[in-house]
Amino acid sequence: MEKLRKIDKVVNLAKTRGFIFPSSEIYGGLNSIYDYGPLGVELKNNIKKAWWDYMVAQENVVGLDSAILMHPKIWEASGHVEGFTDPLVDCKKCKGRFRADHLLEQNGIKPDFNPKDAKALKDIKCPECGGQLTEVRQFNLMFKTFMGPVEAKASQIYIRPETAQGIYTNFLNVMDSQRLKIPFGIAQIGKAFRNEITPGNFIFRMREFEQMEMQYFVQKKDTTKVFNDWKKLRMDWYLDLGVNKNNLKFRDHGKDELAHYAKKAVDIEYNFDFSKNETFKELEGIHDRGDWDLSQHQKHSNAKLTVRDENNKEYIPHIVETSGGVDRATLAFLMDVYEEIEGGRTTTTKSTKDVEVVLKLDKRLAPIKIAILPLSKKENLSKLAKQVFKSLASHYRTMYDETQAIGRRYRRQDEIGTPYCVTVDFESLEDKKVTVRDRDTMKQDRVAIAELEQYFKDKF
Ligand code: ATP
Repeated sequence: MEKLRKIDKVVNLAKTRGFIFPSSEIYGGLNSIYDYGPLGVELKNNIKKAWWDYMVAQENVVGLDSAILMHPKIWEASGHVEGFTDPLVDCKKCKGRFRADHLLEQNGIKPDFNPKDAKALKDIKCPECGGQLTEVRQFNLMFKTFMGPVEAKASQIYIRPETAQGIYTNFLNVMDSQRLKIPFGIAQIGKAFRNEITPGNFIFRMREFEQMEMQYFVQKKDTTKVFNDWKKLRMDWYLDLGVNKNNLKFRDHGKDELAHYAKKAVDIEYNFDFSKNETFKELEGIHDRGDWDLSQHQKHSNAKLTVRDENNKEYIPHIVETSGGVDRATLAFLMDVYEEIEGGRTTTTKSTKDVEVVLKLDKRLAPIKIAILPLSKKENLSKLAKQVFKSLASHYRTMYDETQAIGRRYRRQDEIGTPYCVTVDFESLEDKKVTVRDRDTMKQDRVAIAELEQYFKDKF
């Protein structure tokens, strides 16, 4: 039997331990839409908080939370109505639908689609059934809906496919209200929607997902330095949160890959290892977008979006953007720490000869920080254990678990990445101390209950 890949194991763990569930599952699911369960929402919130705290702590970066629905003209100005398309081909035989650029990539032809590549597609057959493929059609990825009671073209609006446009259109509001001067940045986290032709690879490519974007407004002369600074800062963020540096790399976009307005672009890629041919894939992009975005909005809205430089000369700011996916980051963090230990880590009991799973998530990201585990369900022990739980739960996300043998409970916490387990035993009743076990070293400390709060303050 073929060995399971790490991604399959992570998908399984995510489902069974309550990180991520397929959406609408009791109705058979909805293709590539996912829900975050009790542990998933904690993990995702911790990732977003880590990003937010890091980004708005940088010089001159402020936050924003703009609406998902926006004026439809915004998407004309941004080029999305015209150009936010993917090249689509259908199989004439099995009716399967594929992205032409992905088919080319799978056949070893350069990954980014360009009309000239249509010729190369002639020799490619349907990967599912070997059937003939149709000509390439451009397919717009934006979801549409209607605003108000009339379902007519005039009331048609789009559900945003990226968060960035909300930042551009609020550029002046933010600058004026905060009395900011160029250079400054605006950070935003929010949902985005794309009607992807071939979603997949779990939460890597979904139709509803979340982005963490920051747009930095600069003078043209400063763009190269700012671009390089952000490139480093963004890589450092993943490294600081514990991602293995061998699983991360930069990939510069080639000239023919760049959007027509973009000056420079680099991706931070993570080794997702989805299959033999799909290893390093985009996690986040850092883009020098020139003055294209604000110029377009100035043109289409008639609002003046210029500022003045030190010589009082008017200009449209240039933009360096960092654009990452919350879900892709979640998947990368999960995959990076997923570890299986054959035969288990414990040597003191017989029952540990199977495979143990440990998620060595950074403490800041771990969904549950501390688990309280009374050694038995006896009333006097639970009473003390619940007191300990209460004192810690208001400071840290804490779980109380009293079912099954203590070894099993430790392993359940290891599997979800809980950094510390606190065991309350019969001695605790006498000496008012508990045992704190460290997830990674498995070392145990005997700590006075009265000193637990300070003990964890030092740990977190
Ligand atoms: P790709 O080439 O993989 O489609 P992209 O270059 O279109 O991605 P951007 O438009 O630059 O992506 O979006 C910024 C970030 O948003 C990406 O780096 C990714 O992390 C995230 N993202 C984009 N599309 C999706 C999606 N369908 N599902 C999940 N995350 C996504």
